[in-house]
Amino acid sequence: MILVTGGAGYIGSHTCLELLQQRYSVVVLDNFCNSKPTSLHRVENLVGGKMTVVRGDVRNRALLRKLFTAYQIDAVVHFAGLKAVGESVQQPLIYYDNNVVGSVTLTEVMAEYGVKTLVFSSSATVYGDPASVPIREDFPVGTTNPYGSSKLMVERIYRDLAVADPTWRIALLRYFNPVGAHQSGMIGEDPNGIPNNLMPFIAQVASGRREHLNIWGNDYSTPDGTGVRDYIHVTDLALGHLAALQALQDKDGVLTVNLGTGQGHSVLEMVSAFEAASGKKIPYRIAPRRPGDIGACYADPALAAQLLGWRAELGIDAMCRDAWRWQSMNPEGYFETERVQELSFA
Ligand code: NAD
Ligand code: UDP
Repeated sequence: MILVTGGAGYIGSHTCLELLQQRYSVVVLDNFCNSKPTSLHRVENLVGGKMTVVRGDVRNRALLRKLFTAYQIDAVVHFAGLKAVGESVQQPLIYYDNNVVGSVTLTEVMAEYGVKTLVFSSSATVYGDPASVPIREDFPVGTTNPYGSSKLMVERIYRDLAVADPTWRIALLRYFNPVGAHQSGMIGEDPNGIPNNLMPFIAQVASGRREHLNIWGNDYSTPDGTGVRDYIHVTDLALGHLAALQALQDKDGVLTVNLGTGQGHSVLEMVSAFEAASGKKIPYRIAPRRPGDIGACYADPALAAQLLGWRAELGIDAMCRDAWRWQSMNPEGYFETERVQELSFA
């Protein structure tokens, strides 16, 4: 059985779907601070399978112990955490508590129960502003905000843990820019308030919910001057976690791998691709650079292919098509009135 922390969230829900599809048994632990149980009900309906869902916090040691006692957990996929860069600058302690204390508490309890296989959500943000692209895993790391620092700290803690006890099997997955939605249009990204990220913002402009997109700068040293990123379809990303779980089956130690496509795309390219996918015009204005942004960031994905036997398959057309399907089928995200069964620790 796989414990998925933060399994109701954007990436977690897509990963739960793929896990169920591959016949894994899944128990989700989520406090729903940034998600709704609806996503998990939809996953169950899509797959025609069941998960155990527990409402609770990954920092709650007593609850974790109950979970590990009640279920035969073989491995943990750890998504639970906070992810808004700007908010992390305003509220650093909340970020360190959730992301670092949560990750430490989880592994302490895992060790108590002899469960030592773990897949952790890290981020390309640990590379800061890279000296060159594509980015390899051995590039220098350095962060500029508490969110990024919390990810880097957890990476370091987990590496130290595996040195102290080499029977740990840990995959540190550095995600590039996850976008898109499941091809059914039934699960996707449901940001609170005004989206910070490009794709959900574009999707809301296409649907008429927002007037125009602000493009944060067109004076970067990139082919068209706008920021370049490595957008990766969330389904490809989810499959990367299954590949990591497989790879950890016969290897002690720590795997640190980029999960990206290796392709960089500019903001203007994404706008065109979304217009083509949706048939809608995306009005935009060029605005000043966003503080803290970098010009270009994309992965060298070779190590993931080598160590995990995984590579991303879907391109920006599929990403935009599926993001648009999700947006048009769920203009307000996961609507509140949907009936959800109350979840509790069983
Ligand atoms: P998300 O906010 O949609 O999902 C996170 C889930 O964790 C949510 O369901 C939330 O309710 C839950 N959660 C948060 N704190 C918790 C806690 N203390 N206890 C229990 N549950 C808790 O985010 P996501 O986009 O799915 O990201 C998943 C992970 O991947 C995060 O750790 C994030 O930092 C990391 N990541 C995300 C991106 C991205 O662009 N989306 C990029 C790199 C890394
Ligand atoms: N971006 C933009 N307008 C927006 C949101 C993002 O021009 O409203 C740009 C941003 O400057 C960056 C790219 O789109 O070049 C991706 O931004 P996002 O916030 O999605 O990801 P990150 O910057 O964290 O990689």
